[in-house]
Amino acid sequence: MLRMSTLFLRTLREDPADAEVPSHRLLVRAGYVRRVAPGIYSWLPLGVRVLDRVAQVVREEMDAMGAQEVSFPALIPREPYEVTGRWTEYGDGLFRLKDRKGGDYLLGPTHEELFTLLVKGEYSSYKDLPVWLYQVQTKYRDEARPRAGVLRGREFLMKDSYSFDVDDEGLERSYQAHRAAYVRIFDRLGLDVRIVQATSGAMGGSASEEFLAVAETGEDTFVSTPDGYAANVEKVQLRGPAEGDPAAHPPAEVLDTPDTPTIATLVAHFRGLGMDVGPEHTLKNVVLTLTQPDGSTSTLVVGVPGDREVDLKRLEAQVAPATVAPAEVEQVPGLVKGYIGPQEGFPAGLRYVVDELVVRGSAWITGANAPGRHARYVVCGRDFEPAGTVGAVEVREGDLCTGGEGPISLERGIEMGHVFQLGRKYADAFGLDVLGREGKPVRVTMGSYGIGISRAVAAIAEQSHDDKGLVWPRGVAPADVHVLAVGKGDEQKVVALRLSEELEARGLRVLLDDRGGSPGVAFKDYELLGIPTGLVCGKSLADGLVELRDRRSGSSRTLAVEEAVDAVVAEVRG
Ligand code: ATP
Ligand code: MG
Repeated sequence: MLRMSTLFLRTLREDPADAEVPSHRLLVRAGYVRRVAPGIYSWLPLGVRVLDRVAQVVREEMDAMGAQEVSFPALIPREPYEVTGRWTEYGDGLFRLKDRKGGDYLLGPTHEELFTLLVKGEYSSYKDLPVWLYQVQTKYRDEARPRAGVLRGREFLMKDSYSFDVDDEGLERSYQAHRAAYVRIFDRLGLDVRIVQATSGAMGGSASEEFLAVAETGEDTFVSTPDGYAANVEKVQLRGPAEGDPAAHPPAEVLDTPDTPTIATLVAHFRGLGMDVGPEHTLKNVVLTLTQPDGSTSTLVVGVPGDREVDLKRLEAQVAPATVAPAEVEQVPGLVKGYIGPQEGFPAGLRYVVDELVVRGSAWITGANAPGRHARYVVCGRDFEPAGTVGAVEVREGDLCTGGEGPISLERGIEMGHVFQLGRKYADAFGLDVLGREGKPVRVTMGSYGIGISRAVAAIAEQSHDDKGLVWPRGVAPADVHVLAVGKGDEQKVVALRLSEELEARGLRVLLDDRGGSPGVAFKDYELLGIPTGLVCGKSLADGLVELRDRRSGSSRTLAVEEAVDAVVAEVRG
């Protein structure tokens, strides 16, 4: 039994100054976590309970599907990550450190390398496979923007599992088994999730889906279409207008457009001449710097319709592991800032690509590569040939995509889980073979599957709270019932303790508020802590009555004290 008179807990009446989202605010105020450094948190007793329950649900479902738990170190020597290139590829995201002899180590951001090596060391035959291994372990990533408390930490708890199969059909079965287990896990955690198609990021590999907890405060945007297609915005491919005949337009023509270095000034210039020109008729050429993990850089120019912004995160997903940032145009030889065009006059050798919305045969107004001059009827496929097509623009509500039919809707979510067919990338790197059915070595194929356990605590809080505090789903609450002894008299305390003991004897986990302070404080803490059921022993105990409260609905009913234990058990077992 947790007794608040001794529980290591101090709730706060004020919101922490650095908290931007409700889950962060409430987990700190309710005394579940405390900040140590950016993205690094301590868990207090109530927090540990919720975290453990989430981990327990995950373990039960992983065990039920036939996966086996192992545990790897977080402190890992450099060599295996050097073999796969990730020592470099992970860039600034990796915590690197040295031991006393000068040897390089890292704190594991994810453990593909060690799992691959472990299986290579132990197994040698196709008869050993498939095998599914998982761990629940602390991960370290030096996130660029640690955020929202434990939602995006630099140290965080993850369940990661890995599947090993001899062939693609096996991998597909392993993948589907994990996917099904994830559906059960998020259901038990009370999280409202959408499964969306995803890109593979720094992990390498092919088929990949994410489980996103729907939340306005989420960092991920996903699209869906009326026919059920859903994808992370980084994955979605937009469907541009139909291609046309590049020869069907008048010849390109250069015009004097003084002082028009921006789309807005350019459009105003044409409108001032009585021409019906909108930003969507212009081609904006955005100059970007690509930085590879080894630090080398290159310039990329992307053509997008002038009414669209570039979504750097979406673009980055397509050039990973490189990162993308706006370039200093003045530093790129041959480019005239504000007047760039991909046609004649564009610097030879500079890489030029277009967004999916810029299709072959489309005609544009764009820079003429000379100060104060633009050109019109500049046609893709006639006046310029892009080196490739990328998904660069910010996706909008109502856009069309190649994956589904009908207009796109946009929603936001928190990435909770990721299932991922790695294929043979890691097996190739370490030469993970087993003896096949025909007696010849076969290269193993792998899957990798993660769930953010500490993040789940925050995501659940994000989806499940009100203006008074947290409202935990039963499956993860730190206790089943919050018993309150309210009032000055000893009577309340005695009865509350007796009821708590009886409830425990019935198998319930009880939090007892036996502090005997002001009723206002007790009720406020009850609301803040978020345990789903409250049992109040207050004034009406004099008439043999207690009050049963439902935290979610706010409803309450009065009961005879003798009925209280049965009523609470019925409520909890639902
Ligand atoms: P994100 O895009 O949010 O950074 P990721 O793609 O880097 O996530 P994975 O490498 O697939 O995530 O990790 C598996 C799971 O671990 C994620 O689905 C997420 O739930 C969790 N996770 C990842 N990064 C963090 C973090 N910084 N803090 C807490 N949980 C995290
Ligand atoms: Mg990440």
